Amino acid sequence: MHEYSIVMSLMEQCEALALEHQAKGIEQVELKIGILSGVEPALLSQAFETFKLESICHNAKLIINVQPLVLQCRDCKTQSQVDERTVICPACFGNNTMVIDGEDMMLMQLVLDT
Ligand SMILES: [Zn+2]
Repeated sequence: MHEYSIVMSLMEQCEALALEHQAKGIEQVELKIGILSGVEPALLSQAFETFKLESICHNAKLIINVQPLVLQCRDCKTQSQVDERTVICPACFGNNTMVIDGEDMMLMQLVLDT
């Protein structure tokens, strides 16, 4: 499963950061998941709960912020946030848009136990 490999690399990232800051553990992991990132938040948190037991994250709480799609229209210059997967600008109904946010998954914050 796609989410498992994401969690594996997330854990590696957490371990590296904890080591760097000489932390004993990790209390909280906060992620941003774009609705177009292809990552399913429910599956990701399930994978996290499974893998964390054997990692530095074993006491960590996972917080997932779902990032809606943000479109910038090249025609009317409106920036809009939309909840569905679309390329249509809600202001002028044109499709000359580009995606500003909502496509990626990012580690937003780690709370370390030092
Ligand atoms: Zn527009």
